[in-house]
Amino acid sequence: MNKLVLNFKSKESKKIKNSKNYLGGKGANLSEMGRMGLPVPPGFTISTKVCEIFYQNKKKLNSKLLGEIKKELKIIEKDVSKKFGDLKNPLLLSVRSGARVSMPGMMDTILNLGLNDKTVVSLAKKTSNGRFAKDSYRRFIQMYGNVVMGVENYHFEELIENYKLTKGVLLDTDLDEDDWDGLIKDFKKVVKEKTKKDFPQNVYQQLFGAINAVFLSWESNRAKVYRKLNQIPSEWGTAVNVQSMVFGNMGSDCATGVVFTRNPSDGSNDIYGEYLINAQGEDVVAGTRTPQYITKKARLDAKVNELSMQETMPEVYKELFKILKKLEKHYKDMQDVEFTVENNKLWILQTRSGKRTAKSAVKIAVDMVKEKLISKKEAVLRIDPNSLDTLLHPTLDEKSSIEVIANGLPASPGAASGKVVFTSEEAERLNDMMQDVILVRLETSPEDIQGMHAAKGILTARGGMTSHAAVVARGMGRPCVSGSSEIDINYEQKIFKTSSKEIKEGDIITIDGSTGRIILGNVPTVKPEISGDFSKLMSWADNIRKLKVRTNSETPLDTKTARDFGAEGIGLCRTEHMFFDEERILSVREMILSKTQEDREKALKKLLPHQKKDFKEIFKIMHGLPVTVRLLDPPLHEFLPKSQKEISEVASVVGANIKEVESRIEELHEQNPMLGHRGCRLGISFPEIYEMQCRAIFEALCDLKNDKQKFAYPEIMIPLVSTEAEIKIMKNLVINTARKVQDENKIKIEFLVGTMIELPRAAIKAKDIAKHAEFFSFGTNDLTQTTFGISRDDSGKFLNDYIENKIFKVDPFVSIDEGVKDLVKIAVEKGKKQNKNIKLGICGEHGGDPKSINFCSKVGLNYVSCSPYRVPIARLAAAQAEIKK
Ligand code: PEP
Ligand code: MG
Repeated sequence: MNKLVLNFKSKESKKIKNSKNYLGGKGANLSEMGRMGLPVPPGFTISTKVCEIFYQNKKKLNSKLLGEIKKELKIIEKDVSKKFGDLKNPLLLSVRSGARVSMPGMMDTILNLGLNDKTVVSLAKKTSNGRFAKDSYRRFIQMYGNVVMGVENYHFEELIENYKLTKGVLLDTDLDEDDWDGLIKDFKKVVKEKTKKDFPQNVYQQLFGAINAVFLSWESNRAKVYRKLNQIPSEWGTAVNVQSMVFGNMGSDCATGVVFTRNPSDGSNDIYGEYLINAQGEDVVAGTRTPQYITKKARLDAKVNELSMQETMPEVYKELFKILKKLEKHYKDMQDVEFTVENNKLWILQTRSGKRTAKSAVKIAVDMVKEKLISKKEAVLRIDPNSLDTLLHPTLDEKSSIEVIANGLPASPGAASGKVVFTSEEAERLNDMMQDVILVRLETSPEDIQGMHAAKGILTARGGMTSHAAVVARGMGRPCVSGSSEIDINYEQKIFKTSSKEIKEGDIITIDGSTGRIILGNVPTVKPEISGDFSKLMSWADNIRKLKVRTNSETPLDTKTARDFGAEGIGLCRTEHMFFDEERILSVREMILSKTQEDREKALKKLLPHQKKDFKEIFKIMHGLPVTVRLLDPPLHEFLPKSQKEISEVASVVGANIKEVESRIEELHEQNPMLGHRGCRLGISFPEIYEMQCRAIFEALCDLKNDKQKFAYPEIMIPLVSTEAEIKIMKNLVINTARKVQDENKIKIEFLVGTMIELPRAAIKAKDIAKHAEFFSFGTNDLTQTTFGISRDDSGKFLNDYIENKIFKVDPFVSIDEGVKDLVKIAVEKGKKQNKNIKLGICGEHGGDPKSINFCSKVGLNYVSCSPYRVPIARLAAAQAEIKK
């Protein structure tokens, strides 16, 4: 087993595999910098393993560990010739968290540890700077009091403000030694008052208290929220770094700052950062004083008079510049570096990969290839595929101030502002009048499709990430926040309430589908800009990947968008979505309500030309590429009228009375429609529906061929199959209909017939099913639903509890679950055993999720299919999966 506490210079840390996992990102980098010979203040790292032990040990540090920490302290004491708690030459420490990946500002830090009523006097004497010593002590009491002892920070800030007011000064720097002395007394009083405990004078008690607090901050609310947003597993834990202090606040030859080796917002190759003379790290972040620029160029660009570091400390700047270049070369990535200058001596406190916008990530990766720092493969690996989302959708202008009134699930990325409407009709009406609207619904249904199209964004109170609203919105590229249980909708009063606000129809809100925020009023958005670098990176990815990327699309518009984004065919055309048009839905209702097969066929005849027209368009756009058309899937009652107005409309068209229509609706009602009369079960009961759809497909193809137009390769897909008999019967139906149409037209068309694998039985019995299927497409939405027995539509209500209780790491409807993976593996194996040429793909929402795509690549699928706006993400993820193989 590795040592639990490791000195930065320890040779042992070099041997640790995955040192970031064990030492945390900060600890691993500190020890690496130490070994590179950079000026790093001496210190040690308490490993993430200790965090695990800490939580197992009822949140206590065991005595063996305390012994090891004391031993390591001795080494630092020797290194810096100072002693912890010493009255002549006291060693002061910083205690900081450091998880595997950086979680900026999410966990706790304590500086100046080791000061007490006595050591502060020796520090003053030794530095001949009483003001500095007192200022450091009051900072320590404030930080420790807040972080370890739980005193709210505003109590301390209030005291400082009162002091300044009484003295008639504006800045902290205007307070002198005596002022800080007075404040130290007041601070200690506040601590005693609020905690009933004295501020600890024993330096070891201080140290162990601080380490404890950093471990505890791993489970703080803000850390938990950050982890959830960034999919960081809670079992990773944090490491703790204990380091000797260096001071940027000992006078005008001291400073502290943060600097990026390249510009993190646009990616340009200029160092970019801020610093403050005579200050400590937290002053730069806290915003109490305005920091100055590091380079003269940045200062001039910003038209600021206060001199840059390059001008005030030219020698130190030169050294810093050299170190930054060295660090970038060493890590081969843009770095975010914290430094301190103590009496003109530069110290590097930490380095890490700098957080950056997607735009700058792409530019930096492409530039680094040009500079021969990294290979094309590395550049492709550098970009988080999900981050590309922000390059493909309008995003909120983060510079504007916003008021978040509630939150929901980030169901479809992008931001949109508009007037609140509660019905699709109103959305369409206002859209026709060129007004932007946000459609707010409890949940959406196929009925709402027009309204969703008319709206700039969609907000629902119910439904998860694969709810109708989410799937359709993603397909359309409409921003959507779904399943916001924080909003309470009242359709009758045309209002929705949040805990703080009441929003009426017509009020303007903004939704941010990338984060799930619901915001009051209008927020300006920034239009995406797809730069030359972006397409260059994508072409590198395309050259690497083997997995094909198709799209889920059923409208010509979406198909065109997906094609422009590089889709190599359609993996799922949900034909029922083609019925949602106002005119068509009436014929669909007529078909459903028909009492005889004859009547039903009459109604189907009306639908045929519409489907045929859509297919023609889609086949044309995707010419030369495969298009998988799925026959009708959802239960029929989804298409039935709901309002009285709709019921009477249908009744008059089909010549029935309202009672008859109502009783048919009643008849079709199902307790569990997701497990009911849907998928190929409809084709078994009403073969004429599937026949009409097949006829529309093949007539469209024959027309195109007759017109000498180029067209796509059709693949006809049967949904929700679980038995061999189902696929056998359905395949015959498809082949017979295709043959009929081809004979009528005297034209031969090549096509495939296959099935979705979206039920556990289908996966397990894949060998039998593959006897009749030329392809499998994994419908992992239904496969996840049926594997867990968790309804796709209702899971939003309780999924959060599952994630909070660590039952799920992530929503299994977003990233493919291990159990579902096993079923896919079984089906792939058995399917291939029966038919080694079987074509394999995925068309569930997971087809656009990078982690799931990695699995698809490993398990040997031929393609993934996802919504149009995720196509570039999938292309990049597929390339990354290939590299990682
Ligand atoms: C699926 O179940 O994964 C699938 C793609 O089909 P749908 O979402 O239309 O049920
Ligand atoms: Mg399905």
